[in-house]
Formats: sequence, structure tokens, C-alpha cells
Amino acid sequence: MMSGTSGTEFSLSDEYSMARRRMIDSLRTEHGIADERVLEAMDSVPRHLFVPEALKFQAYRNNALPIEGNQTISQPFIVARMTELLELRERSKVLEIGTGSGYQTAILAAIGGKIYSIERVEKLASKAEDLLRNMGLRNVTVKCSDGTNGWEAYEPYDSILVAAGAPAAPEPLIAQLKTGGRLVIPVGSDLKEQELIRFTKTDGGIKRETYGKCSFVPLIGEHGWKQ
Ligand code: SAH
Repeated sequence: MMSGTSGTEFSLSDEYSMARRRMIDSLRTEHGIADERVLEAMDSVPRHLFVPEALKFQAYRNNALPIEGNQTISQPFIVARMTELLELRERSKVLEIGTGSGYQTAILAAIGGKIYSIERVEKLASKAEDLLRNMGLRNVTVKCSDGTNGWEAYEPYDSILVAAGAPAAPEPLIAQLKTGGRLVIPVGSDLKEQELIRFTKTDGGIKRETYGKCSFVPLIGEHGWKQ
């Protein structure tokens, strides 16, 4: 299991380290993830700690898995791709909507910067907060609320990641981005299937790039789906 070290270092000698290493190799060679900082972060975070006990043996397969509250922990490939698209720097200020299990949050925190994460389901928010704290990740703040309104107290953000499917990019999130900042979000008129989109705020307006189909649980809130 984890060593008692502080910061973002974990022992790689846990029983899952071989499976995790294979997952990283597959992300690099089969899925084209090229950002070494993302791959290193994914190698350093024990995903099996974020999945239900009975599913731990599946933790390093490239699958989404169910967690509490009818939600899911995202597929490793999509976590890697979204993180890569955020183009994080060591001092980035990042807002994440949809903490869920906290796995994606841990990857962001392992890269560095300051991470603010919002989850609407109270028991998921408090469980993720405890787990992240126990892992020694001190650069993360979690709160329970409707993330479609963003988090005004810490704006503007360098990068915003939304881990749930939205009908459109929520206005408050675009407003809370720095100029040059990026919002990575699954958007779709279908509740089950979306397109992964990166919006970049520029002096001249909003640039939009698409990165293929994906499937997330719905983003529910004032600027998302209504229940
Ligand atoms: N990245 C997470 C995946 C979470 S699934 C992980 O790796 O575990 C998406 C999460 O978004 C769910 O937990 C859901 O409760 C949450 N969510 C949906 N709408 C939300 C909203 N408006 N604000 C905050 N969280 C929201």
C-alpha cells in the first residue's frame, strides 16, 4: 500500500503496481497519451483505492466503474486525455466539476498547482475529501454544491475540467476562465453520449476544438440538465 511519505509520492511496491504499469504502457502506446507528466501522475496514484472493494481487481482496466450514488469513476483513458487537454503547468489554478470518487482530482493534484473541486452528492464529496487528505494531497479543496455555477471565490482559473455530460458549456464556467484558459467538457444533447470539447478563452472570443465521442453521467444543475 502507500508509504507514509508526504506530498504526492506513493510507494509503487503495492500489489497493483504491475497492473498500473501495464495501464500506463497501454495509455502511451495504444491511446496516444504523450504528456509524460500526465502518465507519471497516473503511475503515482493508486486507482484501486478509489473503486469499490469488490471491483478492485478491475481497477487498472481501461473501464469506467460504478461508485456510490449511481455515479461512475471515469475510464483511465478519458482521465488521461482530459488532463492532457488542460495543459497544466506546475502553478496552475484548476477548477474541477464532478469530484466523484476523487480519482481525477488526485491526478490533477499530483501534477501540481492548486485544485478546487466541486461535487453535488454530499457523501461522494466527503468520502473523496477524506481519501485525498489521507493520501497527503494538500493542494486540493473539495466542496459540495452545484458546480455549474463555478466557484467565484477563487476565479479566474487557468483550466476547468467538467467530468459530467452537459447540454452546453455553462456560462459561469466560461466567465471564470482566465484569458488563455481552457475548459474541457463533454457536451451533447443526448443524456448518454457526448463529444469531448475544449474551449479556449482568447482576446478575440472563444475557440472550440472537438476530441471525439465520450459517455459521462449527466451534469445536473442550474446551468446543466434539470434533474
Ligand atoms: N472524475 C470522477 C467521475 C465522476 S462522475 C471520478 O474519476 O471519479 C461525475 C460526477 O459529477 C458525479 O459524481 C456527479 O454526482 C457529479 N455531478 C453531476 N452534476 C454536478 C454538478 N452540477 N456539480 C457538481 N458535481 C456534479
